[in-house]
Amino acid sequence: MRIIIKKESCIGCEICVNTCPEVFMEWGLYMRPVFEVREPERYKALIERAIEGCPARAISIDGVELKEDGTRG
Ligand code: SF4
Repeated sequence: MRIIIKKESCIGCEICVNTCPEVFMEWGLYMRPVFEVREPERYKALIERAIEGCPARAISIDGVELKEDGTRG
């Protein structure tokens, strides 16, 4: 699983980092806009929560964005 973050949309609120630091530290610390999740099954639920909680809708998985209604488009 690959996480992609739209750098230009991110407002730096750190909700993603606080929701799942094990995964989003790659963004919080190193600002990597694309990174692999090493244990995707383990963190799946928290990643989903981070995606839904991102106020800028800046996070996607493998390039699949969340639509306005919260579903994947
Ligand atoms: S939750 Fe979204 S807006 Fe907030 S730091 Fe993470 S990517 Fe940026």
